[in-house]
Amino acid sequence: MSSSTMNAGSMSNHFGLFLPTILSQSNDEQLSNWLEPTFGGKIIGCYAQTELGHGSNVRGLLTIAEFDKTTQEFVLNTPTLPSIKWWPGTLGKAATHAIVYAQLILDGKEHGVQAFLMQIRDENHRPLPGIEVGDLGPKMGDHANDTGFLRLENVRIPREMMLAKNQEVTPEGKFISRTSSGNSKSHYSTMMLARASFIMMAGAYLARAVTIAMRYSCVRRQGFEDTASTSFRAPEKQIIDYQVQRYRVFKQLAIAYAFKFSSQWLSNRQAAKKGGDEKDALQDLKEIAATGAGLKGLCTYMTWEGIEDCRKCCGGNGYLMVSGLAPLSQDYVWQITAEGDYILMILQLAKFLLSTYQDAVKGVPVSEQCDYLADIAKPNFNSEALRPPAAKSFRDFLDLGVLLSWYKYRALVTLVDVAAQYTGKLSEGVPKDVAFNECALAGTHAVRAHCFYFLLRNFIQAIKAVADKPVQVVLTQVATLFGLCLMIDENWGGCLSRADLSMVKQANAHILDVLRPNAIALVDAFDIPDRVLGTALGNADGNVYEALYESVKKAPLNQVDPYVGYDQMQKYLDLDILKKRSKL
Ligand SMILES: Cc1cc2nc3c(=O)[nH]c(=O)nc-3n(C[C@H](O)[C@H](O)[C@H](O)COP(=O)(O)OP(=O)(O)OC[C@H]3O[C@@H](n4cnc5c(N)ncnc54)[C@H](O)[C@@H]3O)c2cc1C
Repeated sequence: MSSSTMNAGSMSNHFGLFLPTILSQSNDEQLSNWLEPTFGGKIIGCYAQTELGHGSNVRGLLTIAEFDKTTQEFVLNTPTLPSIKWWPGTLGKAATHAIVYAQLILDGKEHGVQAFLMQIRDENHRPLPGIEVGDLGPKMGDHANDTGFLRLENVRIPREMMLAKNQEVTPEGKFISRTSSGNSKSHYSTMMLARASFIMMAGAYLARAVTIAMRYSCVRRQGFEDTASTSFRAPEKQIIDYQVQRYRVFKQLAIAYAFKFSSQWLSNRQAAKKGGDEKDALQDLKEIAATGAGLKGLCTYMTWEGIEDCRKCCGGNGYLMVSGLAPLSQDYVWQITAEGDYILMILQLAKFLLSTYQDAVKGVPVSEQCDYLADIAKPNFNSEALRPPAAKSFRDFLDLGVLLSWYKYRALVTLVDVAAQYTGKLSEGVPKDVAFNECALAGTHAVRAHCFYFLLRNFIQAIKAVADKPVQVVLTQVATLFGLCLMIDENWGGCLSRADLSMVKQANAHILDVLRPNAIALVDAFDIPDRVLGTALGNADGNVYEALYESVKKAPLNQVDPYVGYDQMQKYLDLDILKKRSKL
């Protein structure tokens, strides 16, 4: 499970956003012109969509591209303050080119947001005429990336610079679209690619954090094993053996494994969808795109929470930058917002689930991801009939099949509840958008329930494919822990009885004990080299105190003695007292 996630700085946007957009939205001629310099890094590109005034509402962008038939050029402007491009990574300093998203206007008529490839800096790396460009300044993290702004004033680019795989403007100024707006395969493919990489990174980042926290928790001892002992030399407990610490660290371990397996699902499904008939594949792509959106929102948020909790699990030392966890937490947090704010992403999946529910009620077959809706069109359908039987012992909850049936049931009832609310409002004549907004909070709960069912199911399927039996056994325990932890933390009170919930907690305590001997092996299996972890707390050799002591010697303030500014301070000190040494 090798996973190294290094901050790729400016080039991450070039390869992560600019290149995929060119690949998926250019026509053949454009590809033959642009692909080689892009792949070869002969030009450096960024993805300029967000503006000062608009991020989530892409349709509301204010950058304008008007076509000038006489010169066969587009004229691009950011006419107002809110229309300035704001946030694109790589734009601030490094980019020579940008994919700029702008409202296309032909003879005064709007043709929606289109993408344009534009050179922004010349051979001396100076902005081209009509362009003002710069960096946004210090951010919370992601410091290696020059996040920028861009102002355009009558910037002219040739007609051929509009990305034209699915639409184009003819020399006569006519707009030709080859697909219905927003419904093209490439539109979904670009989004899915970016989201799959966010989910993959979520698993990788969390694995890094939990590797450090787990190793530190196994090395660090705090508190006497026998609290009645009177000698300070009495043996102390490893902090991983405190129940709450064990729960917190192992929970993040289980989540990291679950994310890794699910990101594989998304990439595999995308790969399977390459080629094929556009119309047939579209519904499937919509589902993959919506699932990717929901997972991007949920996984990035949970990963940041997880990294932060791993950091706190290391006490005061977790606050040091040399912990590796403090910078990781700060460096990760932007991923919750970039490429789609997490709530917007979650709500996108909520919309998809509600429309799937409405289709399912009419008898339209549902996909594997929404199989819990399969029987909903049957006469006398009653969701309670699908409630798993009450447990007889906590051991019932150690069975992955039982856990999965509970997750399936919860996904069903949570969605049924919000769908009832939503359709009720629609039948009262409330407009669709208003009704959705009034159900949005419940919608986020349905998405969480759906995603957790999805994550557990994919985890289980991936484990079945593991050939090594002992590894399969341990991974089964990790998946069980994943299921149990989320039952405890995700407010299952309305779903499980009090007695069931109590058995879930017992099962959870049991599985934590079972997994304890494999604590280190499970993080070593992530196979993250020390140089990637960048930590003094969680290196593979376990020499925490030695590494911490070495690191303080390299701290900037320790490089000069006494310190810069001491001359000023010395005037106020009583040097006679100081000359007495310790005889005061
Ligand atoms: C580090 C970083 C890198 C980025 N890189 C790029 C890049 O390379 N290129 C690029 O073009 N952009 C980039 N972005 C911009 C990013 O895509 C946007 O910040 C993001 O889409 C959110 O938009 P916003 O900032 O306008 O927030 P807003 O849309 O203003 O959201 C603010 C709040 O309102 C809520 N909200 C907004 N609309 C709704 C709604 N319809 N329903 C419910 N709640 C809503 C949101 O949940 C959020 O809490 C980057 C951002 C960051 C932080």
